[in-house]
Amino acid sequence: MGESVSIMTWGLPAVSIVILLLVWWFLNSRLNRLRLNDQLELEKLEAERLKQLDLVKSDFFSNVTHEFRTPLTLILGHLEQVIPKIEDERAKKELIVVKRNAKLLEKLINQLLDIAKIEADRMDLDLRKGNIVPFLNEIQRSFASLSERKGVGLRFDIDDEDITMDFDPDKIELIFYNLLSNAFKFTDKGEVSLRVGKTEKDGRSYCKLVVQDTGIGIVEEQITKVFDRFYQSENSRWRKNKGTGIGLALVKDLVDLHEGTIDLKSISGVGTEIIILLPIEQRVQNNDAQMEIPALDAVDPDMEASIAFEHAPQTLTEEEINAQNIALVIEDNDDIRNFLRLTLEPTYRVFDAVDGETGIEKAMEIIPDVIICDVMMPGKDGFDVTKFLKKQEKTSHVPIILLTAKAGVENRIAGLETGADAYVPKPFSSEELHARIKNLIDGRKKLKEKYSRSLLVKPDVAAEPSMEEKFLTRVKNAVEQHLDDENFSVEELSREVGMSRAQLHRKLIALTGKSASRFVRNYRLEHAYQLLQNKVGTVSEIAYRVGYSSPAYFTKCFTEDFGISPSQVKKDS
Ligand code: ATP
Ligand code: MG
Repeated sequence: MGESVSIMTWGLPAVSIVILLLVWWFLNSRLNRLRLNDQLELEKLEAERLKQLDLVKSDFFSNVTHEFRTPLTLILGHLEQVIPKIEDERAKKELIVVKRNAKLLEKLINQLLDIAKIEADRMDLDLRKGNIVPFLNEIQRSFASLSERKGVGLRFDIDDEDITMDFDPDKIELIFYNLLSNAFKFTDKGEVSLRVGKTEKDGRSYCKLVVQDTGIGIVEEQITKVFDRFYQSENSRWRKNKGTGIGLALVKDLVDLHEGTIDLKSISGVGTEIIILLPIEQRVQNNDAQMEIPALDAVDPDMEASIAFEHAPQTLTEEEINAQNIALVIEDNDDIRNFLRLTLEPTYRVFDAVDGETGIEKAMEIIPDVIICDVMMPGKDGFDVTKFLKKQEKTSHVPIILLTAKAGVENRIAGLETGADAYVPKPFSSEELHARIKNLIDGRKKLKEKYSRSLLVKPDVAAEPSMEEKFLTRVKNAVEQHLDDENFSVEELSREVGMSRAQLHRKLIALTGKSASRFVRNYRLEHAYQLLQNKVGTVSEIAYRVGYSSPAYFTKCFTEDFGISPSQVKKDS
């Protein structure tokens, strides 16, 4: 009885608890399912929204890019009209540089537009039926003048004369224009060849196209990456007329569009081979076997190679060592280097260097009054150059302006941290650059005032001496040691300081405004002034002690410099 009561008393609540649990579980799982559904719905909406956004973005991108084309077309159009009319050779060359760079911009914009189109699945093939062989012949022929100018051979091998198939002529042109451009760009000797023929694979007929060169090749690890957008392999990144790394990505997309395949084989230092297979289909009905072959403009060699301008020789004459306005330009891009020379030459004697390494050598040799240096360069970049030169005794005082395409604040800070004196983002106006240079050179005047006030003043012992102070102390010590030696020459002084005569001269001029011989003379006479004040001997004795064998000549020089005669100084003290 007691047991049944206990079942009754315990059983009911237990059952209700189980029921409650079941209800809770049921509601909870429903709720979860609803939540899940909601979430899925949300995700779908989000995906939709992102897709829309992507479309808007790519629309915006292609619209904006498109807008670039109108002004560019006008620039190029006018240039083409005007260049043949220009008689001044130099002006003509300058305009050709403008044209080449406008063309580069045009190419880049077109490539970006194509990529945007492919990305948005909006690139359609405009297939025509025709013989692809004469068409390819026309494309390769447009490279003939470039081949001649570069001294790199160009061969067209035809294994089958007639390969009639469907293809989109514009896209095929784009593909082979890119491949042949690459081949010529990365080849300095040997030849570039294009071979066309038919082949069978898995029971299907293909048109086989091979572009081969004997150029720099690509290192193995990087071969798979060259089809990536914006990828440029290590050994090519610093080539002249470097591109943007879009070409091959675009080529691959265009080959895919033709349902073809592309394969790249390359050996670093030997050459590169690109094999394209395009299916031979003849579905297009227009039966346009006599497909019109467009006459393509020759690839203009002027557009590929930089123009040489005439510049002043890269050695200093005796008078120029004394001239103070020497600027050194360190820049690897030919066009920018030439441009800097052209803008600076009227005001400065300009030297140049094509990379950091030679830039450093030149700077140490000529000790310029200002250095204008690009940041991004192969090997030693602008930061390396600045750090190095600021630590060298010969060049520590030379102001350095860094030029950079990256205008971000971090870059600016990084540049100034290396000790650069100014940072000028590209594109810059030549007026701005001139103003900056003038500013810096004028700023050196303060330095001169400081160091030339009195040669006998010892640097502040409390502060760590600057590179300049250390240098001047070394020069002064050398003079001090030969104070009574009348024959102590500037040659000997420079030898003792470990510089060439010209280097010592230029460094002293920059720091004190005095030539080396002037510096020595001033030092001797200032020393004499002190001795006279301290009355440590007769005027003649003091003259001998500071290296003058003729007291009369000493008196003359002394009076010239101080406006007071030695005996007067002695008397007044
Ligand atoms: P762009 O074509 O956009 O002007 P790019 O030529 O540098 O610039 P891609 O054509 O995409 O770019 O080529 C990518 C990279 O592949 C090149 O930068 C180069 O490193 C390497 N490459 C391409 N073709 C060759 C070749 N024939 N020989 C050696 N390297 C090559
Ligand atoms: Mg390319």
